[in-house]
Amino acid sequence: MTDNCIFAGFPLDPADHMRGNEKWLSEKLDAKSSRFLLYARGRPLMDISEDLKPAFKTVDDIKAVAANDLTNGDNNWVFLGINGDVAIFAVAIAGKLDLAGHEKFIDLRSVALQLGADGFSAVPSLLGRGKILLEWNGRRHFCSCCGHKTQAERGGYLRKCRNEACKAEHFPRTDPVVIMFVVSGDKCLLGRSKGWPEGNYSALAGFVEPGETIEEAVRREVLEEAGVKIGRVSYVKSQPWPFPSSLMIGVQAEALTTKISLDTDELEDADWFDKTCLREVFESGGSATFKIPPKIALARYLLDAWLQEE
Ligand SMILES: [Zn+2]
Repeated sequence: MTDNCIFAGFPLDPADHMRGNEKWLSEKLDAKSSRFLLYARGRPLMDISEDLKPAFKTVDDIKAVAANDLTNGDNNWVFLGINGDVAIFAVAIAGKLDLAGHEKFIDLRSVALQLGADGFSAVPSLLGRGKILLEWNGRRHFCSCCGHKTQAERGGYLRKCRNEACKAEHFPRTDPVVIMFVVSGDKCLLGRSKGWPEGNYSALAGFVEPGETIEEAVRREVLEEAGVKIGRVSYVKSQPWPFPSSLMIGVQAEALTTKISLDTDELEDADWFDKTCLREVFESGGSATFKIPPKIALARYLLDAWLQEE
């Protein structure tokens, strides 16, 4: 079993010890050696000339865009980390940017698989973290405690309320989601949500609610959505999911009951799938009534792992 999954494997030294050093950060923001990843509405700027890759920019490129003043305190940038002496930042572009013919802002989800062999390179992780942090900062310009303006500190990993009487500190959030691969002997439970393309089935999933353990969330979600009672829950693997800021927690869950009672507000269908039949479907690349979950999804990893078990 490999640790690889898309959006895992952050390639930089996140340099936590330097984030609070405002002088160092401002020097790096102005350094010729620094590199900048640009985003427009959450979409990273990609170089599409040959192999798809991020279009890294220099500080001079950034300054050429008048509306993007990195020192104006409006916090449209975040510090991602260092690679040797090179500091890497992510910048949300507000103004108009003259793009070269081989550059394009592209939805990260649509290209994550192409960014390296099977997508298992460090690039989706780097682009995903930039997206998460920029979008979080973009949504937290005002304090949720008192309504005053906030200001980014620590390279965008903290926003502090400017109201002296409040001074609340806000940190980037990660929302835990459980993905449940439910098994009963040599069968697994897969479902499809309303509006999914025909034949798409996947593992059930849901947000962990406040005050719940992972195990409790798994048992509640499966009972709510499919009416199936769950016993043992085993952690398998996790995956950062930057749409917008989740952590997918993949588990295998043992069913205590098999009768399905669908919550039709959540699911259009759910059913038990036989391991031998699924292996045949995988070998043939899918069927009209069952499309194999894409490799970008943790559900695919859970399914692959189970099919490889004896
Ligand atoms: Zn406040």
